[in-house]
Amino acid sequence: MEIYREEVAAWIWRNGKIIPWNDALVHVNSVGHASVAGIFEGIKAYWNQEDNQLYLFRLEDHLDRFLASIKMVRFGFRYSKEEVAQATINLLRANEYRRDVYVRPYVFQKGMIRELLQATPGKETELIIDSWPFDSYRDPNQALHVCVSSWTRISDNVLPPRIKCFSNYHNGRLAAMDAKVSGYDWPILLDGQGKVTEGPGACLAIVRKGVLATTSTTGSILEGVTRAAVLEIAAEVLHIPCEERPIDRTELYLAEEIFFMGTGWEIMPVASVDRLPVGDSRVGPMTRAIQKAFGDIVRGKDPRHPEWRTPVW
Ligand SMILES: *Cc1c(COP(=O)(O)O)cnc(C)c1O
Repeated sequence: MEIYREEVAAWIWRNGKIIPWNDALVHVNSVGHASVAGIFEGIKAYWNQEDNQLYLFRLEDHLDRFLASIKMVRFGFRYSKEEVAQATINLLRANEYRRDVYVRPYVFQKGMIRELLQATPGKETELIIDSWPFDSYRDPNQALHVCVSSWTRISDNVLPPRIKCFSNYHNGRLAAMDAKVSGYDWPILLDGQGKVTEGPGACLAIVRKGVLATTSTTGSILEGVTRAAVLEIAAEVLHIPCEERPIDRTELYLAEEIFFMGTGWEIMPVASVDRLPVGDSRVGPMTRAIQKAFGDIVRGKDPRHPEWRTPVW
């Protein structure tokens, strides 16, 4: 049965077995269950042609966060971190990937759509690991025109942004659609106090007076793995001073450089905010240096941080 026309993997991992992608079906009655409390991760693996190797980037950190999210939503979950890691490697081998890949493990409670609250602690879950080809190369001069969203970012006592949960994406989705209908590429969300949080699906950094600043992890953001890597790379490798602190909206208008950082986008520069140019609207020197160092480290072209790379082959 042909279900999906975009490029898909031959194999998907479901509840302990690697099965054909097109056989991974659910009943319509369970629609919504993957999303009401569903937890997920987004992980990338990078192909290095010279090493003839595929490197999963910070697999352990992603799986630590996966298990932390699962704990906070009180799911029953019977796999260890090591088992999910091995399952991920087995799946990438089964699909014989020799190119950049995106990996999406996700877990959701089994049940029917009638049980909308899903408020049964420890209830049985399904674990799926999907993957698909995802080339990370893009136009190095690409930069986004963004707006400050009129939608407020969810907060820790509402829908905790620290939990990587499908439901949180409704907040980002509203903001992203609103930005697009207003002619922007993407939004930045503020918290209830008007401080900068992040974009839908990617954390944010600004450069002001030569200092790289990003919202701290208690500022209604997801604790991004890319964000953590960028802070380390900026400080240790590039010797750029870094701060984790609250960021005002108007600092977005004065920043020399701004970029998003996340697994999917990696380092994505911002050209303008609310139609005010960021610097001279072109990708700035620190953003470029971080893009380069990040790209080389994830792929193992730069040998630093070997603990961040899990070889698949
Ligand atoms: C996944 C995600 C990010 C990026 O986190 P990474 O660990 O770098 O991939 C940022 N914000 C939100 C809301 C996310 O869901």
